[in-house]
Amino acid sequence: MRVAVISDIHGNAEALDAVLDDIDYVGADFSVCLGDVVGYYPDPEYCVDVIRDRAVYTVCGNHDRAVTGGIPTDNFNEHAEAALYWTETRLSVESKLFLASLPPLIRIEGMVFAHASPNSPESFRYLFDNDRRALSEAFSELVCRAGFVGHTHCPFIAMRHDGGISILPHGKPVNIEDGNYYLINVGSVGQPRDLDPRAAWFLFDTDAKRMELFRVAYDWRITQRKIIAAGLPTFLSDRLAKGI
Ligand code: ZN
Repeated sequence: MRVAVISDIHGNAEALDAVLDDIDYVGADFSVCLGDVVGYYPDPEYCVDVIRDRAVYTVCGNHDRAVTGGIPTDNFNEHAEAALYWTETRLSVESKLFLASLPPLIRIEGMVFAHASPNSPESFRYLFDNDRRALSEAFSELVCRAGFVGHTHCPFIAMRHDGGISILPHGKPVNIEDGNYYLINVGSVGQPRDLDPRAAWFLFDTDAKRMELFRVAYDWRITQRKIIAAGLPTFLSDRLAKGI
């Protein structure tokens, strides 16, 4: 079984199209979206439409929840909040109903999928590779062999084994070893923050026992022009070019 996992699209149509083309080219049996379909960028309605058609399973991100009034925006910075209000006025009723219907976590075939840490998906706790305490708490409640998260926009592969927790390099394909547990941050499609502006997606292949983080170049200058034309914060445009 080949599962393609994407996350944090944030209304970036150019990045989403590039990633879906790459998934088609590489090949997957089904796709899962880890949420934050909207927020920040100028094509929220398009991205919801595409995700509704293409991702077989989708969980809810904090931006998806906030734009439908499900959580307050107290924790959002000023740019995120401004973009969220802009997004709220651009989404159709159908799209809002779709976003509001998304579950915080799903389990499929021995894998768990959530936007944030799977041990508290509703509180949207961040999971970074250097936060050993959060990682170990997430692993301690991981009843499935593999858990997939997004939210930080920074990819990593963490493995729990007999000797503890290791962070594996994700610049090349990684073997899936029997008996170990994995927590994987699949990075972000629409706003990478690991100093690499290319869009990210993740392939988990249980037949070949291999997994791989893919990066896809796309023309973010088109997105930048749309951001400025829409009157969205220029900071959100600038960061796309830097991957921050
Ligand atoms: Zn996000």
